[in-house]
Amino acid sequence: MSRAPRGGGTQDRQSEIVVFAGRDMEEQGRRELEGQWGRVCDRLRKEIGDKAFKTWFGEVELGELKLGKIRLYAPTRFVRDWVGRHYGDRVLAYWQSVNVEVKNVEVNLVPPPTPRRPNEIIAVPPVPSSPGYAQPMPRLGPAIGRGDEVVQAPEGRYTFANFVVGKPNEFAYAAARNIAEQDRPLPERNPLYIFGGVGLGKTHLMHAIWHALRERDPRTRVLYLTAESFVNKFIHALRTKNTGAFKEMFRNVDVLMVDDVQFICGKETSQDEFFFTFNSLVEQNKQIVLSSEKPPSELHDLEERMRSRLGSGLVADIHASTYELRLSILQSRAEAARVPVPAAVLEFLAHKINTNIRELEGALNRVVAHGQLIGREITVEMAQDVLHDLLRQADRKVTVDEIQQRVSSYYNIKLAEMSSPRRARAVARPRQVAMYLAKQLTTLSLPQIGKRFGNRDHTTVMHAVRKIEELKVSDNSIAEDVELLKRQLQG
Ligand code: ADP
Ligand code: MG
Repeated sequence: MSRAPRGGGTQDRQSEIVVFAGRDMEEQGRRELEGQWGRVCDRLRKEIGDKAFKTWFGEVELGELKLGKIRLYAPTRFVRDWVGRHYGDRVLAYWQSVNVEVKNVEVNLVPPPTPRRPNEIIAVPPVPSSPGYAQPMPRLGPAIGRGDEVVQAPEGRYTFANFVVGKPNEFAYAAARNIAEQDRPLPERNPLYIFGGVGLGKTHLMHAIWHALRERDPRTRVLYLTAESFVNKFIHALRTKNTGAFKEMFRNVDVLMVDDVQFICGKETSQDEFFFTFNSLVEQNKQIVLSSEKPPSELHDLEERMRSRLGSGLVADIHASTYELRLSILQSRAEAARVPVPAAVLEFLAHKINTNIRELEGALNRVVAHGQLIGREITVEMAQDVLHDLLRQADRKVTVDEIQQRVSSYYNIKLAEMSSPRRARAVARPRQVAMYLAKQLTTLSLPQIGKRFGNRDHTTVMHAVRKIEELKVSDNSIAEDVELLKRQLQG
């Protein structure tokens, strides 16, 4: 159970310092308070039993003592109300027995946490401090839109040190490092264009460049923003007739990084502005780093001159991850979190979750969180259990061929009927079921599915999908057929 103190705002902290006069005193006071809370918890546990204690107090955290009032924090409204109503008096009584100064106890809802990315790993050690991190970035020109949006703060743990290098990403990694280490951009390597699938580390590398550059020279002006944010700011500037300020933002940067540039495709006015910004910085020999989910050649809806310009520097791709890379990322994450996770579990995850690194991390987080919160031993079975929804998806690689075979043998018709033009109910209905399952269980589009069923039109497939959806509601036997087939195919 979490006993991490949850300090109030800085305001509270400051007034606490006054009470205890000095930092050491403050810490001592804190420790004493935690000791008292520990004793109160022990008595509570004895009285209400382990189970009830875990249920209600398992995630309640100690806040602070101020002017005789103890503040506790509950994770949800429900727990807050329940604990307050049913245990408030007891908590107060126990507390008074260990500290007479306490006059009342208040249960609050936990203050909203500092925004955490959903994929952030639990219990990561503090990020190695770099001079740039934790300091607000310098304002680059006047604010546009909401002030703090001007520059996006980099993610602290996205450093080179935390980036695991393997075959799929070694080139992109080397290229990124090179930028962080060179004094002047080499024209033939400018821009650096990193591309690769979702969740493979593009943003991580860009933030790592940011950290490294600022570590080298805190005065370096690095501007990182997503293409989406670029477009939004530009549109805002147009709307408020303040394009001057928008341009000003880019004027003095040393390095410009734009993440997910594929977003700009098809947005013509923004594209022009981006191109203009881009060119003027290149002319000044400023380094530019771009990332994208696609190689330059596949940026459709982008003017040709721009496409060739974006790819005119160094293009580095990140390939799909390999088992080895996934495993070493998991190992390094588990190590960083200081949670012993058995090798077999890491191997299991690296083997099963092969989509992207973000999902991989998410899976590890879930397993670790389960282990910590529920106190369950981390084993392969436990991971399987905790991740069953994710693993189902990962395993869900059903093909149209399999579907057609299963369905035709289930209904006892010839496989060829799946693609035949016959419309008799006896074959048409099973065919519709198969189309429905193809839509549900594969990632194919309606036209792709139609093709596999005797070159039928996508509207026919759509009709089949709707029909079966309707029948599943009105006709129990169809609903059962579909469920059974689905289970067989996925099992
Ligand atoms: P992208 O921008 O390519 O979609 P991200 O950079 O956001 O992907 O990466 C997704 C998650 O995976 C992040 O938490 C990142 O730290 C992690 N990650 C990706 N590649 C690596 C790597 N090689 N080593 C360590 N972590 C990685
Ligand atoms: Mg990204």
